[in-house]
Amino acid sequence: MNGLLTIDVEDWQHANFQQLDGREEEMRSLAAGTEYAMDRNTDRWIELSAAAGVQSTCFVLGEFAEKYPGAVRRLHDAGHEIASHSYRHDLIYRMTREGFVEQLKRSTGALGDLTGEQPLGFRAPSWSVDDARTPWFCEELASHGFSYDSSEFPVKTNLYGSSTAVLEPRYVGELLRIPVTAVYPLGRLRVPFLSGAFFRLVPRRLIRLGLRRMVSRGLRPMAILHPRELDPGHPRLPLKGWEGYVHYARLGSTIPKLESILGEGTWGPIAREFGFRG
Ligand SMILES: [Zn+2]
Repeated sequence: MNGLLTIDVEDWQHANFQQLDGREEEMRSLAAGTEYAMDRNTDRWIELSAAAGVQSTCFVLGEFAEKYPGAVRRLHDAGHEIASHSYRHDLIYRMTREGFVEQLKRSTGALGDLTGEQPLGFRAPSWSVDDARTPWFCEELASHGFSYDSSEFPVKTNLYGSSTAVLEPRYVGELLRIPVTAVYPLGRLRVPFLSGAFFRLVPRRLIRLGLRRMVSRGLRPMAILHPRELDPGHPRLPLKGWEGYVHYARLGSTIPKLESILGEGTWGPIAREFGFRG
């Protein structure tokens, strides 16, 4: 098994939920007034990856790179791929084409200043792209020097995704699109098992079965984590009900499960695994 290991590098308040819709500035002030060093978790990521002898793709948010430049340099120096997660954590399908390009340039500038390299990969905040609302998305990424995108989530939720999306990587123009492949087929349903809350909630037995199922289908599993998930004690957003549950459920299971899947096979960063760079 040869998997793709990825982490979306952002702060604890970077999330898109219905309850927080229209409260972006309030959450920004909440975070600004809360003392918490998220870079301790990116350092923990470096340690965990090194212990397993693997490297990852880090989709870094521009705002995170500006707040924690040393953390991004340390990830880069440790051999992790630095890719873009946009500049702010805004939903792309609510942006104009021009607004998206402006954030893309700010993100690329912030990352390039730290690594000296053009990021090759992109992942949309909350998988917020689709053919209907962002038909210009792939064209803009390619024309701004990106080689691949990893923004397709093959399960429909109330915020994002499509349950009929293909799982195989494919070219759209010059851009390679690499969907989140890690879904377990359950009848007509697809159950994600290696990303965020799904990874925390799905039992280990099902994760192991899912990994085997993917290999037998000739697909490469893609794991998706966040720095905040490595510390169950990180500050909380004012989320209630189901949204609060999924955002914070079983945080303590992240590291043991991560260590377990890293022992199941080999894992690597997307650019290297697809032959884009070193
Ligand atoms: Zn994100």
